[in-house]
Amino acid sequence: MTRTGLTPLRVLRLRDEPEAVIVLRFSALGDVLLTSPAIAALRAAWPRTRIVYAIKERFTHLVAHNPHVSEVVGLREGEGPWSYAQRLRAAVGQAQSVAVLDLHGKIRSKLLRACLPPSWTRVVWHKRDLLETVPVKLGLKPHRASMLFADRYHAAVEQLVGRTLPRGELRAFLGAGDAARARELLGRAGIDLARPLVGMSPGANWETKRWPAEQYAQLARHSLASGVQVVIQGSELERDLVQRVVRAAGEVQSADGRALRAVDLAGQLDLAALGGVVSLCTAFVANDSGPMHLSRALGVPTLALFGSTDPRMFSWTGHRVLFKSELACAPCSFFGRRRCPRGHFRCMRELSVDEAWLALQELLRGGARASLSA
Ligand code: SF4
Repeated sequence: MTRTGLTPLRVLRLRDEPEAVIVLRFSALGDVLLTSPAIAALRAAWPRTRIVYAIKERFTHLVAHNPHVSEVVGLREGEGPWSYAQRLRAAVGQAQSVAVLDLHGKIRSKLLRACLPPSWTRVVWHKRDLLETVPVKLGLKPHRASMLFADRYHAAVEQLVGRTLPRGELRAFLGAGDAARARELLGRAGIDLARPLVGMSPGANWETKRWPAEQYAQLARHSLASGVQVVIQGSELERDLVQRVVRAAGEVQSADGRALRAVDLAGQLDLAALGGVVSLCTAFVANDSGPMHLSRALGVPTLALFGSTDPRMFSWTGHRVLFKSELACAPCSFFGRRRCPRGHFRCMRELSVDEAWLALQELLRGGARASLSA
């Protein structure tokens, strides 16, 4: 193994800057955003190379406005690897030297790579060593991330380029009309953007990544009572959860005498509108989830609540993270679980509202944009 954990056999170093690099990362929101520092590093190393980003069609907005990306080719719903490979070949045109940077590293990208010309150089990112994976999966020990997630993508770029490179920044790039659209949407919902606004995202794909709805509701009440407006977002599938938080938060008399309620935005935001809304927040609160990474990538001061997953996978410069590091069982998984294997769910239940409110106030006081980090 190399210093970066990549197996040398997977790497065929290019002698010169290639004409094109096809980057594979098909999903999901957070994972795609976490490739942005690596893409920036790749662009800085090879300024003339055409960078083609291969991604599921519904996520194309996440990379379409990235100035380092030359073209985005969206994988259509149900499209097979052979048809998609033909479209990627068309995207690189007559290029003689082409590399494939696989930052997905799963069966889908493996099948796709098999359909691309064998003469094209390939580098596959290395997610984690087996020795790190197996004991956690078997529940023998908690997960301790050995390096930042974004650094693993960066290591793959260094392998491709063949030298160490300065790290890029975590960034999300909005479309031209995204913020304006979000302003209009928030205005219709009664939000005054001249006043502080906290965004909250109480959902997550896995149950053990979710701070309880009642705790979110109490945090929303603290914010409203101090005169800070609150919007709560969630996907279509998270409508019930968001409604529960909004209902439990109820109406609150703020210190300056206004009657305030949290605004329910569940199911109303596509990726463009979500980016626009988050970018307009004074601070954002979320679990370990795509919206949390989006908020960090937009430089919005972010309060992250971690339970069963390891916050050491990410950098928190300019942000705050709450995590019960003293719990012997935490973090018990890489992605989250359907339920707590111990039954007590202390990792999330014991993250107190008071702690969260203190951290959130700190971020709100900071006001200005946080420094960007991976
Ligand atoms: S309390 Fe411990 S075992 Fe339960 S979900 Fe949280 S980290 Fe996992």
